[in-house]
This record gives sequence, structure tokens and C-alpha cells, in this order.
Amino acid sequence: MSEKKAAIDEWLAAAADTKYLAVRDGLIPEIPRILEQHFPGRPVFTVADENTFAAAGQAVLEALGAGGISTAGNFIFGGKEIHAEYRHVETLKAEIEKAGKPVPVVTGSGTLNDLVKRTSSELDLPYLCVPTAASVDGYTAYGAALVDNGFKQTFSCPAPLAVAADSSVLAAAPSYLSSSGFGDLAGKLTAGSDWIIADRAFSLDGKGGLVPGSQKIDDTAWAMVQLPLKDNLRHSLDAVKGDRNAVKILFEALGITGLAMQHMKNSRPVSGCEHMWSHVWEMQNLRAGGRTVTHGHKVASGLLAAAAFTECLFREKPSRSAPRQSWPERESQIRRMWGGLENALPSILKTSREKFIEPGSKSAVQIEEGLLDLWDDIKAAVFEQLPPYAEIYRMLEKAGCPVKPAETGLSKARIIAAAENAQTIRVRFTVLDLAFETGAFDSVLERMEASDRYFTDPHRG
Ligand SMILES: [Zn+2]
Repeated sequence: MSEKKAAIDEWLAAAADTKYLAVRDGLIPEIPRILEQHFPGRPVFTVADENTFAAAGQAVLEALGAGGISTAGNFIFGGKEIHAEYRHVETLKAEIEKAGKPVPVVTGSGTLNDLVKRTSSELDLPYLCVPTAASVDGYTAYGAALVDNGFKQTFSCPAPLAVAADSSVLAAAPSYLSSSGFGDLAGKLTAGSDWIIADRAFSLDGKGGLVPGSQKIDDTAWAMVQLPLKDNLRHSLDAVKGDRNAVKILFEALGITGLAMQHMKNSRPVSGCEHMWSHVWEMQNLRAGGRTVTHGHKVASGLLAAAAFTECLFREKPSRSAPRQSWPERESQIRRMWGGLENALPSILKTSREKFIEPGSKSAVQIEEGLLDLWDDIKAAVFEQLPPYAEIYRMLEKAGCPVKPAETGLSKARIIAAAENAQTIRVRFTVLDLAFETGAFDSVLERMEASDRYFTDPHRG
């Protein structure tokens, strides 16, 4: 793996959709030039909500006027909090079609970008995103997370063709948005340790055919996300305080992780089991302080959960004693653990069936023995990647992320219980599956439960 830290331009070449990504002070006046370069001669349609219009949308409109770009229409979402609901895509689509399909220019954060991303894709239009907060890695990701019929799903759609972020705008965003972005970036720590585990599992038969959801590490994606990760985290701790340079580093790092997804055509480089915990809480509509907990804050909580789980798993090498479940046993267990969220069950059961390994099968024995043979190698590689729980806790706390369960409306018991749900969400092989396949899952949860190191304040005692 190359230790070289490449410039954004080099990573853009590895990305499938995005051709321009820049973050610097005073970029908004340059938007007409960026449009001329990437969308020559095309009129635009601007989208914002009331907050983002005040934060930067107005300035974007003025810049467009000053630069002689023709604006074929504007749409400003009213109301305090706009949700990622598919019905908004239908509204936007009708408006943009009515205006003659000009190029969408969206000024806003994650939700607005996702709405415009899907709308643009349905209209077969490229678009420009002007982010207003360094809050997620989703700006440069393909796919949009939208709620349709009460169920959140990822709609496929290309990433924006161009992303132009003004760091003075990002720095002025509400501080919880910057700390959310930090949480989303910090989650790449366990995304990395999970990928190391999946890479070793992939190697069991040399073709990755044995272990469902395993995947070989891709050097380019690893270089984009993991090589600069710890430096980027260290230098973006002050993003929450509105420090422009810290916010710039944070946004750039998040943006590049999105490009890594475009390069891989999947989210493996940026998402491990910390995101699966966050998806569980997403489905449970986690709220705290009168507000839906942001994606990045859920990821920060998932990161702590994942780090605790990883430490507890590797404390002891498993020796499988309990017999494997049959599929009917597993299915009724899954139905029990998802009680109350029945609308999620069809997709959860499908995923769990896909990764289920029949007891007594040849692959059950091969996987179990293979993983146990690799145990010491996996353990060493994982802890080279993953800092200790207490260190992650202090880093997240410094960066303004919630670290105590109550701050995100959770409890220690709820975090531990969600591990079981998290394991059923995706086929992607993570530390949760390593524990599951080696028969250690329940003992790991018991160790987490019994320890007072986790989900409490480690500064005490
Ligand atoms: Zn994320």
C-alpha cells in the first residue's frame, strides 16, 4: 500500500461520478466558473430550504446573477426540519421538469443533497452540490437514503458531478452538524478493522467464495480512507468550534471517503458494523433532546459499541461449544429480536438467510476452523488499526460527539441488545459475524455487560 497522500484530483480520477470536489474559503463567488467548466451553457435550477437559503443559498443566487448564469427556477423548502421523504423527490421532479430540466444546484446538507441526488437521477441530469455543513460523508456518495412508505431505504442514483464547499459556510453551521460529520468520519476506524477481518475471511479459500460478505482489501480505497484517517481525525477535532481549517480538513476527508465508495461501487471502505448499529437506531427513530439523533451521532455511538465489542471478542480465543442453530431456530430468534419492527423483517430475513451457514455443512467446519486458525493474525491486525475504546471515547468527547448513552436516548442495555439486530442487517462480514461464526457472540455480550469500562465515563476511577 502506498503511503503517499494523494491530492483530491488523483482520487477524483478513481471516482465514477464526481468530476469536481473543492473546499476552500470564498468558493461561492467562483460557482459560475465551476458551472461553466462542468455544465457549459446550461441554465440552472436552485434548491435550498429556509435555513440553507439564509446560510448560503442567497449568496449562491447572487453569485449566479453576477456571473451571468441563467436561473430557470428556484425551490425553497419551507418549515423547520425537512425529512428525507421520497414524496419530496416527486415535488422537485415536477418543478424541475416544468422549468425545462435545467441543471439542479442544491445548497444544503445531507438530506437536501439526497433529495436532489435522487431527483436528478430520475431526470437523468447531472447536478452541483453546495454543502452547508461538514455533517456526513454522503455528499459524494452514490445512492440516497430516503423514507418511502415509512421504511428507510437506499435509492440508487449517481453522486453529484460537482461539489463546491465554502469553508466559511461550513464553519458557520450549527456545531452539532460538524460534530456529526466528525462521528461519521471516526466511524471509519471500525469500518477499517471490520474490513481487515473480512479480508482475512476472504482469504480462507483464496476466492472469497467461502465466507458470505467477505471482501479483499482494495489498496486504492484503503489509501483514500484509512491511510490519512488518524491524522484527519486529529486535525478536525476543532471543527465543532467552528475552526475553518478543522472544518475544511473534516469536509475534505468526508468527501474523499465518498469518492472511495464511488471507486469501489459499494460502501465497504466507509461502513462497518458501527453503521449497522446506527441503522438499527435509525429504524427505531432514535431521539434525544427533542430532536432526531443525527446520522453521525448515531455512528459515533455505534463506533463506541463496535470498539467495545471488538475488545471483548478478542479478550479470549473462542472454542465453539454450543451447537450451531438450524435455520428455523435462527429465523424464530430473528423474528423475536425484531419484534415491534415487523416492516423491516422481510429484508432482514432475506439478508440473514443469505449469510446463514447450515450446521454440520462442510463450509461450517471450514469457516469455523479457518477463522480460528487465523485468530492471532486477525487480532494483531485489528488492534494495529483500532485505538483502545477509552482513546476513542476521549477523542469523540473532544470533538463534541455524544459519548454517554443517555445523550443519544440510549442505555447500556439497549446498546448491547442492538448488537444482535446489527448482525442481521447486512451480508457484509464484520466483527459481529466473526463472533457469530466462531460461536462467541453471546459470551461477548456477557463480557460487555459485566464490564464497567464501557458505556460509562472512563475518566472516573
Ligand atoms: Zn455514515
